[in-house]
Amino acid sequence: MIYVHVPFCRRKCNYCAFNSKVAGSAEKNFYVDALIKEIELRGTSEPVETIYIGGGTPTTLTLDELARIVDALGKNFLVDKSAEITIEANPGTVDENYLRGLKTLGVNRLSLGVQTFDDALLKMLGRIHDARSAIETVTTAEKFFDNISVDLMYGLPAQKLEHLRRDVEQLKNLNVQHVSIYGLEVEEGTIFFELARARKLPLPDDDACADMYDFITATLPTLGYRRYEVSNFAKKNFESRHNRGYWTGKKYFGFGAGAHGFDGNLRVSNVRDVATYIERINAGLNVSTVEEVVNRRAAMEEFCFLGLRLVEGIDARTFEKNFGVKIFDVFGAVIERNRRLGLLTVNGDKIFLTERGMSLGNEVFADFLL
Ligand code: SF4
Repeated sequence: MIYVHVPFCRRKCNYCAFNSKVAGSAEKNFYVDALIKEIELRGTSEPVETIYIGGGTPTTLTLDELARIVDALGKNFLVDKSAEITIEANPGTVDENYLRGLKTLGVNRLSLGVQTFDDALLKMLGRIHDARSAIETVTTAEKFFDNISVDLMYGLPAQKLEHLRRDVEQLKNLNVQHVSIYGLEVEEGTIFFELARARKLPLPDDDACADMYDFITATLPTLGYRRYEVSNFAKKNFESRHNRGYWTGKKYFGFGAGAHGFDGNLRVSNVRDVATYIERINAGLNVSTVEEVVNRRAAMEEFCFLGLRLVEGIDARTFEKNFGVKIFDVFGAVIERNRRLGLLTVNGDKIFLTERGMSLGNEVFADFLL
């Protein structure tokens, strides 16, 4: 698995704490050069089944720049012929020509940051697009891609259940295969954080957010989207292979400023600042630092709290095969406590979250930290 980070956006959204910034074409070009050097330095003959180009907004790069990145990956890794190759794109940054170009590059999955189809909410979020351009982008993308994901958000300031009802109505008219739904988190360093501090951000309360989440999780399945993870829904056979890899503990490379990687033992992250990243790469210096050594105990914890994000949950036999010890001997008390609280179900070797457990996922996951 390979993740490539493109830390550029047309404009910074009001809620965004991701590693992204507005940049000119020269800086982007230098960045792509550095990215390619990093890819060349770390290439291996390991087979790669998924590539995810995320950001930021990768589609703020030119098609030529993206082609150079994809080409470098192909030359320095053994990319499987049937690899899932996803790119994140934002409405307002791609037109028909660009989408056709992405397809030509071998991209076969598009993840579109729509967030909502409500113009007033989009404006308040500071997004560069309106509902009409989001719809146009999706319908144009459908000409080239049969695997499209749309991101939606809930818990937005001034958002009501009615807004989400209209978002879902709009989804019905589109033909996307995958939907991710994220609750807004107000993070430090964002405009929303300052507004919240000044008590000028009309956030819905916890109950209203829970109602929105419940509405989404109840409604999307009626449109043919099966929930397969806490925040992700897909039509049959359209689950994200790349993200499933994260939740099942697969190794992955991370390229670019602030990108994370995991080699099965170490979790590493690259320097976050774009200028520093470029400088260090060009000077032949290391850009990554070890964030965590995943020892046996941490690996057992991760197996549980990442695997429980998936609707199918975790398998007691796989745990025993991986760690040589029974899951109930290590986490028996935690499993039993959450089962009694109605948050977990144990069915033979399968352990998975209940509906209630899904909506209180973070509490359950925290419980698995030994
Ligand atoms: S488009 Fe995405 S990454 Fe870029 S500023 Fe907005 S939320 Fe952040």
